[in-house]
Amino acid sequence: MIRIRILGSAAGGGLPQWNCACANCVAARAGKIASQTQSSIAISGDPEKFRSWFLINASPDLTRQIETMPQLQPRHDSSRNSPIAGVLLTNSDVDHALGLLLLRQRETPLAVYVAEETRAALAWIDSALARFCGIDWRKTSTDFQPLAGSIIFRAIELHKSVAFQFRDGVSGGTVLFAPSVGKLSEELRDTINASDVVVFDGTFWSDGELGVVRPGARTAREMNHLPISDGSLDFLRQSPARRKIYTHINNTNPILMPSSCEHAQVRQTGIEIARDGLEIVI
Ligand SMILES: [Zn+2]
Ligand SMILES: [Zn+2]
Repeated sequence: MIRIRILGSAAGGGLPQWNCACANCVAARAGKIASQTQSSIAISGDPEKFRSWFLINASPDLTRQIETMPQLQPRHDSSRNSPIAGVLLTNSDVDHALGLLLLRQRETPLAVYVAEETRAALAWIDSALARFCGIDWRKTSTDFQPLAGSIIFRAIELHKSVAFQFRDGVSGGTVLFAPSVGKLSEELRDTINASDVVVFDGTFWSDGELGVVRPGARTAREMNHLPISDGSLDFLRQSPARRKIYTHINNTNPILMPSSCEHAQVRQTGIEIARDGLEIVI
């Protein structure tokens, strides 16, 4: 059995974002919709009795997220310890990697699984952490490799990012985590169709969404995020996965507002909208 917890479901900046007065950020500040921290998940497998966890992406909100999840907090039998066994990164974006610096007080080097390009782009974090715990870099593979216990995983290479597919070696159950998807490649389509649970890039509803609050902003596709409305919605609707969940949701995205027709449209297709604390069991 694999257990996953969505630690953060928001894209970079979070909800609310400190300098944003869009309708969603205003509603979150007023307590009308729930605030959400920046995107990250925790994953653990049965044979470790869920005592050891890996993070996929380490957000700038990580220390706050640890305090919301007792299983990620230190055991009481020694003064310094952590159930966090390592981190996997989908790319080098600040909202996915800054949390590595927050783990600097570790006693031993931090295991970080990355693709070659991501490691090269994170040389600055490598040198910052060298004075503290240091990083034990591990290379991801497009073939399945062991993670811990019965969990095996592989990377699906995308443009400027990877997605991760995890499989429970005992039950055979699979989950895909793909928070930064610019295009639905053939390999990604096949992997979506072969996964029991799909946690997918829900950053933007429409291509020009960010331009409304920040004139001149890049489009969703230029930022390597396939919009929901004319990008991923139709394909995910038809996929056979038993749970499909949008995550990494930008604070401008209208699906965050429960009364919006965009929210209703997503829910009608049977796709869930992630929130901090959501649990997935495979
Ligand atoms: Zn991000
Ligand atoms: Zn906003």
